[in-house]
Amino acid sequence: MSINLEAAVAPGFVEKAPLERYVDPDRPSLAGRSRAELAAALGEIGVPPAQRKMRVQQLWHWLYVRGVTTFDAMTSVSKELRAALENRFTVARPEVVAEQVSADGTRKWLLRLPGENPRERPHEVECVYIPETGRGTLCVSSQVGCTLNCPFCHTGTQRLVRNLTAGEIVGQIMVARDCLGDWPGLPLPTLPRLGRGNGAVVPTDGGRLVTNIVMMGMGEPLYNFEAVRDALLVVADNEGIAISRRKITVSTSGVVPNIRRTGDEIGVMLAVSLHAVRDDLRDELVPLNRKYPIETLLDACRNYPGLTNAKRITFEYVMLKGINDSLADAKALVRLLAGIPAKINLIPFNPWPGTRYECSDWETIEKFSEVVFDAGYSAPVRTPRGRDILAACGQLKSATEKLSARERMALRAMAMTE
Ligand code: SAH
Ligand code: SF4
Repeated sequence: MSINLEAAVAPGFVEKAPLERYVDPDRPSLAGRSRAELAAALGEIGVPPAQRKMRVQQLWHWLYVRGVTTFDAMTSVSKELRAALENRFTVARPEVVAEQVSADGTRKWLLRLPGENPRERPHEVECVYIPETGRGTLCVSSQVGCTLNCPFCHTGTQRLVRNLTAGEIVGQIMVARDCLGDWPGLPLPTLPRLGRGNGAVVPTDGGRLVTNIVMMGMGEPLYNFEAVRDALLVVADNEGIAISRRKITVSTSGVVPNIRRTGDEIGVMLAVSLHAVRDDLRDELVPLNRKYPIETLLDACRNYPGLTNAKRITFEYVMLKGINDSLADAKALVRLLAGIPAKINLIPFNPWPGTRYECSDWETIEKFSEVVFDAGYSAPVRTPRGRDILAACGQLKSATEKLSARERMALRAMAMTE
């Protein structure tokens, strides 16, 4: 038996075939494309302009309502057109390298994407599904790695960074629905169920498994604004995947110039990673604060298009022991947010190998949340999900980068003795 060193990751991962079998550089994928891009693709294969609108409608339905994975399955499209499409395009999704299931039912997929040129090493991103009663949230990545280096975040320590395309962002949602069997009329999961626990997924009232999207995976979504916008407009489209804008949240560490655009051009819910109430501390925890300090950030929040008491901004606050978790911090937090329609999400810090931070004690978190609650905010403490498979907030990092030099050597040694 040989071990593929590039794909050897945490226990519980299934190895899949190499990228070459899935990505055909001469036949790009239509999965994740907008209507305008589909029309252009049809133009490329000679569909006359007068027919394109109707053909786009058909493709849209098969891609985003039915979730088909071959042109052949698009039975309302003529045989000739299906053949022409097949010749020039695919409907491939990002490749699933591995699936992991947490004891609490959280699922994490490791996806492999092509490098920026065909000869470059492929990139990897992670995508996490969190089932809860009545809803299922998919945590989607916007970049490979992140340029922003918040010191408590695992993703920020990753060297490799590239923006995902809109297709790759929509592709994550399509992959998750493929793996969960979340398309109408299609067979149930294609991947083996792994991991401890039963990993059961329970359909929600409407029968759908993925009901909410949060752009809280790897990367800073507002540093890849156009692709995130184009992707979310595909996902929210009523005639397709149809996840309502109110169930889509973009989380930002505070890229002020793109906050208004998020409201104007996408119209989704906003979450802001605040984490500190003083500029000196936030400069350290969220280094982007040096460029856009707290007051500038909060001004942008106050002016967020569509902001009302029914459509509040979520402020995320990671609880770091002895760093930002005092009662004085809690009081300053509620003073700071006074007048902004806000929800406050206290996130227990999720540790990762090599981090210098610790999660606040439970008692401290409770006291902190009481202050916030007494000030009139609901202050849910977000229960960490999927910690055992490093799928929780801020733990995501491409798995191949997760191996230390020592681990790599050990694996190599194992591979040689087998
Ligand atoms: N880059 C964006 C979105 C991705 S991070 C942002 O920073 O908002 C999603 C959330 O997880 C952010 O609030 C982030 O600060 C938080 N986070 C990062 N690392 C974490 C960790 N180790 N434990 C808990 N939350 C973390
Ligand atoms: Fe990037 Fe967000 Fe992590 Fe900061 S917390 S490094 S912005 S992914």
